[in-house]
Amino acid sequence: MNRRDFLGKTAVAAGAAATTIGAPAVWAQGKKYHWKMVTTWPPNFPVLQVGAERFAKRVKEATEGRITIDVFAGGELVPALGCFDAVSAGTVELFSGAAYYWAGKVPSAQWFSSVPFGLNPQGINTWFYAGEGLKLWEECYAPFNLVPRPQGNTGVQMGGWFRKEMNTMADWKGLKMRIPGLGGKVVAKAGGTVVLLPGGEIFTSLERGVIDAVEWVGPLHDLRLGLYKAAQYYYYPGWHEPGTCLEVTFNKKVYDGLPSDLKVILDSVAAETNIWSLSEFESSNGAALEELINKHHVQLKEFPAEMLVQLGKLSTEVLEEEAAKDPQSKKVNEAFKKFRSQIGPWGTVSEKAYYDRIFGKYALKTT
Ligand code: CA
Repeated sequence: MNRRDFLGKTAVAAGAAATTIGAPAVWAQGKKYHWKMVTTWPPNFPVLQVGAERFAKRVKEATEGRITIDVFAGGELVPALGCFDAVSAGTVELFSGAAYYWAGKVPSAQWFSSVPFGLNPQGINTWFYAGEGLKLWEECYAPFNLVPRPQGNTGVQMGGWFRKEMNTMADWKGLKMRIPGLGGKVVAKAGGTVVLLPGGEIFTSLERGVIDAVEWVGPLHDLRLGLYKAAQYYYYPGWHEPGTCLEVTFNKKVYDGLPSDLKVILDSVAAETNIWSLSEFESSNGAALEELINKHHVQLKEFPAEMLVQLGKLSTEVLEEEAAKDPQSKKVNEAFKKFRSQIGPWGTVSEKAYYDRIFGKYALKTT
């Protein structure tokens, strides 16, 4: 056998082997997927719904059309808070939302979006990508036939809009505030009355004084909702949501059945969207805050330091109470606390020191 014959026969043999052994993979690689994605966000909701649509577009581009995704805002295909069940049941392939919406079904899920006095965006991303956060999240969702991925982050939110100044803990007593989730539990412990309102009723309720305070998101979304017209004082920081992570979550059977290259693409586009989302929030919030202060003359106020200490103590109590309700939450809370205590000291000598000593010179200039 000369060299040419040998190479030819080897190539044929190798080709035959690839055809036989690799058939399912080759078949899967040629397969096209057409999915539906539902979200918990209103249509055109800045950064969040826009981010879900961007995710779908980027997946189509990265897969050269092997995966196409039709995106439906909250209520368009299923109710906003029906996303989890629809994807869990497999009637829809994936959703975009925030894990704390599912606290009633998966109490431990709250730690993967945001908890009061929890991690900032850098911290929570570190927990997911370099710590055990994502592994724990997958563990919590697996019984529901779901696979989660971080897909966005609101940044540190604002503390909210108040119709009166907040000077001491006594000011929380009897305060009627729209603040959902664990933050709401802390406000209730402080003596406030927590009011649950759909997004569409928030502005009117605050304007008419039916409620005394509202937390929504941050300058960009708060400006759009016009909250500055209904309350005078805009407080920071958002101790209750210090870096809320948003999710894209897949039906597990759908995700597990994909060829490995498509799984890598989905994971990568989710991570890329996560960075894009935080960048959008940071950029837009900076501009919106300036507009609120200089154009709409909002009174920007920092919560008193002692008040934050007290709210922090109440938050710890709330988290411990929540964690005691089921073993999975206890496991996640313990892991979360351990991670926070490790990353905290480093952040103090790096990010905090840099912000306090150097970046602070860029403090907001008011006209
Ligand atoms: Ca919020």
